[in-house]
Amino acid sequence: MEATAVKTTEEKYRDYVITSFVKAIQPIVIDRAEGAVVYDAKGKAYLDCFAGISVVNAGHSNPEVIAAAKAQIDKLVHCCSYVYHAQSLADLAEKMAEIAPGRLQKTFFANSGAEAIEGALKLARLYTGKKEVISLEMSFHGRTYMTLSVTGNSGRKKRGGPYAPGVAFAPAPYAYRSQWPDEERCGEECAKAVEQVIRYQTSGDVAAFLAEPVMGEGGIIVPPKNYFRQVKEVLDRYGILFIADEVQSGFGRTGKMFAIEHYGVEPDIMATAKGIANGFPLGGFTARPEIADAFQPGDHLSTFGGNPVSCAAALANINYMQKQNLPQQSFEKGEYTIGKLKAMQQRLPIIGEVRGLGLMIGVELIEDSKKTPAAAKAEAVRSICLREGLLIGVGGVFGNVIRLQPPLVITREQVDQALAVVENALREVSA
Ligand code: PLP
Repeated sequence: MEATAVKTTEEKYRDYVITSFVKAIQPIVIDRAEGAVVYDAKGKAYLDCFAGISVVNAGHSNPEVIAAAKAQIDKLVHCCSYVYHAQSLADLAEKMAEIAPGRLQKTFFANSGAEAIEGALKLARLYTGKKEVISLEMSFHGRTYMTLSVTGNSGRKKRGGPYAPGVAFAPAPYAYRSQWPDEERCGEECAKAVEQVIRYQTSGDVAAFLAEPVMGEGGIIVPPKNYFRQVKEVLDRYGILFIADEVQSGFGRTGKMFAIEHYGVEPDIMATAKGIANGFPLGGFTARPEIADAFQPGDHLSTFGGNPVSCAAALANINYMQKQNLPQQSFEKGEYTIGKLKAMQQRLPIIGEVRGLGLMIGVELIEDSKKTPAAAKAEAVRSICLREGLLIGVGGVFGNVIRLQPPLVITREQVDQALAVVENALREVSA
């Protein structure tokens, strides 16, 4: 018999994996990673400025997180979540109560961001006895049916409709492309628009307003400083809960433990995932006790949610962040990076806007003074960076925003190295 050739990883992906994620660029096979650097199977190093979509905030293969996960694996990997209690879950829930804004205290643990949003919406409905949801245009909340229903980006919803009823969308507080380019005015008008949406687009039976404190997939849109405070005043008048989707912006990413802290507003429910366990699968939502207790026994459950290993990893991850003051590091490195990018903007007209908070940074690329989105060029920049050993993200509703979201442990030297590659790539696509 003829021996069949062993397929390569790329061939196995082609033949056996549903690769529906995004249109594939040149795939690389990642073999190992450490800190802010990942290595492919041939040993080539890449500086990672995307952190696995804003996940490994404490750095790849963080030794403290890995050690905690290994110790937990030796003791207990899984237990039946509705009959037994696990110590690592309890310890993590206590830690979440310590770091969550204001009175948020009780957490339900799930496996992913989408599952966290699904649960948060269900809880808001049970607590308020109301049904409808208001979300933002240009938002992203996940890929399940309900989370796509509340996602304000038709690009992500193609070929999946019709979606759930009872969802209305308010304008994104996106000053750069809004009719109110002045930040404060944009914040004020967009907050007023939330009330208009309640009054004219819903039946008045609104349970929750759902928003990302910094809109990641929408193109790192940073809402104006006054926005959430003014929105919260509107919501409180109508008895509507505010769910902050911190899935992407949480865990030090923006220079505070949670991005909503920049706005001095306390959400009623907060959804988390991604950076919570530095790469171990975990998500959750945290609420004030009186809201959390609206769930009656049997109302909500997840077989794998709150897995003991992921919880042990998450606790070690948060402890590490606190010890190393990673949110502050993110703030300082972010200021440095944004400053350098703004200087680059003076040299390169392709950069329409540089924006961000901490190490959640977007560079919006434009073709001309009419701000025509330069999506093909953004994609070309990503390919050039990959060729030069730098991983970056590309996003935004128009596909023209370069996303820099490295592990928060990245060094200044690595930031400089990344910026040099980005500048050369921008020059190459501008030529
Ligand atoms: N919410 C936000 C803000 C996100 O950025 C994402 C993922 O990118 C999600 C929810 C969904 O998270 P997951 O992919 O873990 O389901």
